[in-house]
Amino acid sequence: MECQIGVISGDGIGPEIVTEAKKVLDQIGKKYGHLFHYTDILMGGCSIDATGVPLTDDAIAAAKASDAVLMGSIGGNTSTSPWYQLAPELRPEAGLLKLRKSLNLFANLRPAYLYEELKAACPLRDDIIGTGFDMMIMRELTGGLYFGARKTEEVDGVTTATDTLTYNENEIRRIAKRGFDIAMKRRKKVTSVDKANVLDSSRLWRKIVEEVAKDYPEVTYEHMLVDNCAMQLVKDPKQFDVILTENMFGDILSDEASMVTGSIGMLSSASLNDTKFGLYEPSGGSAPDIAGKGIANPIATILSAAMMLRYTFDLDKEADAIENAVKQVLKEGYRTIDIMPQAGESTEGIEQVGTAKMGDLIAERV
Ligand code: NAD
Repeated sequence: MECQIGVISGDGIGPEIVTEAKKVLDQIGKKYGHLFHYTDILMGGCSIDATGVPLTDDAIAAAKASDAVLMGSIGGNTSTSPWYQLAPELRPEAGLLKLRKSLNLFANLRPAYLYEELKAACPLRDDIIGTGFDMMIMRELTGGLYFGARKTEEVDGVTTATDTLTYNENEIRRIAKRGFDIAMKRRKKVTSVDKANVLDSSRLWRKIVEEVAKDYPEVTYEHMLVDNCAMQLVKDPKQFDVILTENMFGDILSDEASMVTGSIGMLSSASLNDTKFGLYEPSGGSAPDIAGKGIANPIATILSAAMMLRYTFDLDKEADAIENAVKQVLKEGYRTIDIMPQAGESTEGIEQVGTAKMGDLIAERV
């Protein structure tokens, strides 16, 4: 297969971690006979320095011409970088928001997977962790409370703020379909999370999810209220496969789910639209505090590349190969600095490695 991949290396550790993801992809290409063509796309602080804006129209066109975009991270130190003296619409993050909007990326996917070897970083008790957990949070990204009309006004002399939460059936249907499609590639279970005991938007959500579920007879689905889901994530996370939910609930639950897995350097993500296109990026930022030191953890970006193979290119075997290589490297005791054992934990059989070495080790095991 020939794949056109737009590459946004970005700022800070971005170029370092993207280099390692490309290294692993190229190894996959060699082993499985695929050709990955990369087009560099400027976005973020580096684009501001080169063009004066965080994302140019040419950059958007280049992203649209790609099958998928693999991204590192953008932004700098928000206290000291001159990028943050600029007007908000000219700052690095404005580029990412503009790109998401231009590409209509309405579905955000964040896996929460607990690696056996990193169990110690999980704040939950051993009996709750058991043999680990593996879930995917599917969050609606372009509707709901964050995009509804809002205002602050004086009502009878009292300052009053209003936000509105709106979803139409089409917005719900397209994300629900995406959620069930993803479940078909996993353990075929969807937990749809809402607040249908209170909110009209949630009652519509529930109704449409039930309609969509009829087209996926192999997928087991259930509804769960968001307050219960927040509890279940720490009480029994093993029960979840795909959690399908709206924008604000997903914002909160995906952070909760990622906290129980440990390091930010391990967390991949994808943002999808209703074609096969996706933007794949680590959940963390540009980590200016460690940029240029060669110590950043490239695993989240490498796992984002695996998601790209699975969800844009339908290369499941190849995605499995990357995920297994990551597990193997952890099993052999290799760690970047952020996932090293904490004080008091055993370091027997553990070796600290830098960014490039971690990329090499994973590529070798692919
Ligand atoms: P951050 O995620 O960059 O860093 C938080 C902490 O996690 C730091 O100590 C950092 O060293 C560590 N860290 C993050 N990724 C790591 C990795 N791969 N390996 C090892 N350690 C890692 O968050 P921040 O410091 O709040 O933000 C820094 C910049 O990143 C800001 O400009 C912010 O706006 C931007 N940001 C960008 C994105 C994105 O590109 N999507 C996301 C979040 C933040």
